[in-house]
Amino acid sequence: MIREDPAARAAAIVGHAHVITDADALWTYGYDATMGYRGRPAVVAAAHTEADVAALVRLAAEERMPCLARGGATSLAAGTVPPDGAFVIDLNAMRAVRRLDVAKRRATVEPGAVTREFRTLVAAHGLLYPPDPSSEAAATIGGNVATNAGGPSAFKYGVTRDFVRGLRLVGADGEIHALARPREGPLIDLIVGSEGTLGIVTEIEVDLLEAPVARSLHALTYADDQAALESVPRIIEAGLIPAKLEYLDGLTMEALERARPRGLPREAGGLLLVELDGTSEEVRRDGERLRQVLVSEDREGRVASAGQAGLWWQARTGITASLGRIRPAKIGEDICVPRTRLATTVRHIRREAGARHLPVAIFGHAADGTLHPNMLYDPAVAREVVAAREMLQVVAESALSAGGVLSGEHGLGRVKRPFVATAYDAPTLNAMRRIKHAFDPAGWLNTGAMWPQA
Ligand SMILES: Cc1cc2nc3c(=O)[nH]c(=O)nc-3n(C[C@H](O)[C@H](O)[C@H](O)COP(=O)(O)OP(=O)(O)OC[C@H]3O[C@@H](n4cnc5c(N)ncnc54)[C@H](O)[C@@H]3O)c2cc1C
Repeated sequence: MIREDPAARAAAIVGHAHVITDADALWTYGYDATMGYRGRPAVVAAAHTEADVAALVRLAAEERMPCLARGGATSLAAGTVPPDGAFVIDLNAMRAVRRLDVAKRRATVEPGAVTREFRTLVAAHGLLYPPDPSSEAAATIGGNVATNAGGPSAFKYGVTRDFVRGLRLVGADGEIHALARPREGPLIDLIVGSEGTLGIVTEIEVDLLEAPVARSLHALTYADDQAALESVPRIIEAGLIPAKLEYLDGLTMEALERARPRGLPREAGGLLLVELDGTSEEVRRDGERLRQVLVSEDREGRVASAGQAGLWWQARTGITASLGRIRPAKIGEDICVPRTRLATTVRHIRREAGARHLPVAIFGHAADGTLHPNMLYDPAVAREVVAAREMLQVVAESALSAGGVLSGEHGLGRVKRPFVATAYDAPTLNAMRRIKHAFDPAGWLNTGAMWPQA
């Protein structure tokens, strides 16, 4: 008997129209939002149901093909870049909001639900789903679960893991598992953030909050980046819990201004954007306290007008695209350090980048210590390519030596995997390998991502 090839077998599960094997079309599934990483998948199949996912995972295992889930493909850790010859399961057609219980403040969604669409839907009911990655227009809730996505409001409200109540998951063997808190809480905590390496999430139940009634936007400009970053712990120590507290350096503002002028203070070395929310009284009181912190610092900080703050907050959403105005390519890093080490970490990164004459734009969710140093380079200039790659290592090491971690929110994927072995001690690395092996003995699920090499 002639055995059918994997694509024909996939077509028998999801239909011919939902299987891609054409080389040109496959090309578009070979990359994600990470520059400089590319793979060549063998087959892409779009799942429409949980049963499709289970059958496709079984098929890939039988065919001994590396298998990975694809959501919005906004990964910045090359988490969605397939290994050559991989079997990709596209989850974007599974995008329904299955249930929204406004009274209980719970919702159940399929993994391909787009984050912003879901957040907008619940907001229309006076509810808040806080995880707000800046990629929310394209990222999916399934991808957010897989990466434990955070965002500007993570400091006050938490990250994706804090809102997941239950999951349905297809394991490496194609078996379907239903997990719910509190009983399977530790297991859910392990799956969230496992980057599709332990199973493929097919349904997510999330908690929602009542939306705050009032909010206000603020912008504080500083003479240099050190002053801005040293101000961050002081704002928190003053008892403020901002809904968002973002840091932008001078080069980031320069890029934004080149893309679309909005009067950002590019001559200022550092900018803090703050959003306060709560009751009207809380917002008023916190706004006053924020001004007091700035005045008491006496460090040339300046409070911008409410109009400027609103405009600059809008500008912030365009950072990634605007960096192309400085150099055509970038390596976007994502580290997290203790708040008190923000200033020294940035100083060290700048010194190293300066020694290599490489422009590095730095911004991040400063309240929780997340920094995104972006190494900007021209792929046609060999010196810059080498310098950008070197800086990737410098940035990773600077996070670890500051007592921080390799990733604040983007995950480890393929970009940070080479540094995992230096980030943890031998017993921890062994425990990690045993966990991966227990869930995925053959190692087919998102092969090459996240876990330390054997
Ligand atoms: C401009 C920009 C801004 C960003 N800002 C933020 C930010 O503020 N905070 C933040 O956390 N991240 C941010 N990111 C990174 C990225 O958006 C997040 O990692 C996001 O959670 C990925 O979602 P996605 O649907 O695009 O997932 P994908 O990129 O499609 O997948 C990411 C990983 O999850 C796996 N995966 C996807 N779906 C599933 C599933 N259903 N089951 C199991 N595994 C799955 C994939 O195999 C891959 O390993 C940003 C990215 C960009 C481009």
